[in-house]
Amino acid sequence: MGVQEQYPFDVEALRADFPVLDRKVGGDPETAGEGEGDDTPLVYLDNAATSHTPDPVVDAIADYYRSYNANVHRGIHQLSQEASVAYEEAHDAVAEFIGAAGREEIVFTKNTTEAMNLVAYAWGLAELGPGDNVVLSEMEHHASLVTWQQIGKRTGADVRFIDVTDEGRLDMDHAAELIDDDTEMVSVVHVSNTLGTVNPIRELADVAHDHDAYVFADAAQSVPTRPVDVEALDVDFLAFSGHKMCGPTGIGALYGREAILEEMQPYLYGGDMIRRVSFEDSTWEDLPWKFEAGTPSIAQGVGLAAAIEYLEDIGMDRIEAHEDLLAEYAYDELTALGGVEIYGPPGDDRGGLVAFNVEGVHAHDLSSILNDYGVAIRAGDHCTQPLHDEIGVAASARASFYFYNTVEEVDALVDAVREARDLFA
Ligand code: PLP
Repeated sequence: MGVQEQYPFDVEALRADFPVLDRKVGGDPETAGEGEGDDTPLVYLDNAATSHTPDPVVDAIADYYRSYNANVHRGIHQLSQEASVAYEEAHDAVAEFIGAAGREEIVFTKNTTEAMNLVAYAWGLAELGPGDNVVLSEMEHHASLVTWQQIGKRTGADVRFIDVTDEGRLDMDHAAELIDDDTEMVSVVHVSNTLGTVNPIRELADVAHDHDAYVFADAAQSVPTRPVDVEALDVDFLAFSGHKMCGPTGIGALYGREAILEEMQPYLYGGDMIRRVSFEDSTWEDLPWKFEAGTPSIAQGVGLAAAIEYLEDIGMDRIEAHEDLLAEYAYDELTALGGVEIYGPPGDDRGGLVAFNVEGVHAHDLSSILNDYGVAIRAGDHCTQPLHDEIGVAASARASFYFYNTVEEVDALVDAVREARDLFA
C-alpha cells in the first residue's frame, strides 16, 4: 500500500483551509505579497518552529475584533461580558483538551517560555535553596534549560542533567540515579524538538513522585501533535504554545495542579489579579486569574480555543498517526540517500520531525539551497545548544511536519537535499 493510501484523513481537503500553503515563493522578501519573482511552490516543513493558521481560526479572531472586542472582567456592558465569557471559556477548552480538572488549573501565558519562567520565578525562587536539586535532561530546550540554570544560580540549588543515550533516548537508569530525596523538580521535554524522541514522562513522574518531587512536562511539541492527558502523564505542571498548534502567536498555556497553584505566590502584580487593594496590602483573585495580571491576550485566547476545536475535529490520534507516517517516510528516504546523518531514534519511534546533517554541507548552506527549491526548513541549534555540543556538531537541519504536509512534500525535501549534497560533493 502506498504511503498516501495510509493517510488517516483527507489531507487535501484540510489544506484548503490554509491558503498560505498554496503560496509560491522565491521572490525578493522585500516585495512579499506582491508576487514579484514568486514562482516556486512553497513546501513548508518548519512546523516545529511555528505552524500555520487555518481559516476558521483566522475567522474566529477577526470575528472577535469585528463583533465583541472589549476588555475582560472589567465592564458590565454587553461587549465586555461577551469577551469575558469567550476568554474564560477558552480556558475551559484548554482544560478539557489536556484532561485538566477545570479552568482553575489553566493559566494563559505568552508562550511555553513564559509558562516555564512563571513556575521558575513564582515557585522556584520561593522554594529552592542550597542542598536542593532540579533535574532536567540533556535534550531540554533553552526555554527550560536556561530558566532553571539561572534559578539554580540565584537559589543555590543544583541543576542536574539526565544523559541522552547514543540512540537519542533518555538514560532512565541515570534518571533514577539523579533523582533523589533532595530533588524538588523534574522538568523534562515531552517530545524533543531536535531528536524527535518521545520521552516516557509517566515513568519519570513515578520516579519523581516517589521522592516527593514535582514534574514539569515541556509539551511544546507534544500537545500540538498527539493526545496529551495531564492525569495519565501524572504531571504537576505542563506548558505549550498556541502558535505551534494552528493558533495565533502571543498565547500559551500553563497547566498546574490546583493545590500547587493555590500555594504559589503570583508571578506578576497589577490589575485583574487582585481581589482587594488598600494602601497597606492586597489580596489575590481566584485561580487562574491570580496569575494573569493586566489585560490578557484576549483575541489570542479566542484564537487558541478555535484552534483546539479545529484540531479536535480532525482528531489528535489521527494527527499523531499522520505525523508518524511522514516522519518514518522522511527518515527512511533521507537514510537511503547516503551521506545523511540523522539524530535521534529510528523513524518508527519518533515525533514528526527529523534533524540531520549532510556530509560536507553546513546546515545553513543546506537550508539556503533548500529555500531556492521552495522548501522551508530550519537550520541552527534549535535552542538546544548543549545537546548539539554533546552530539559534536554546531548546527543541524530540521524538517518538521504537521497534519497538512504530504508525502510529495517529503519527496521535494529529499530531492532538494540530494541536489545540495551533489553540489557540494
Ligand atoms: N520547548 C520546546 C520543546 C520547543 O520546541 C519550543 C519552541 O521551539 C519551546 C519550548 C519554546 O516555545 P516558545 O518559543 O513558543 O515559548
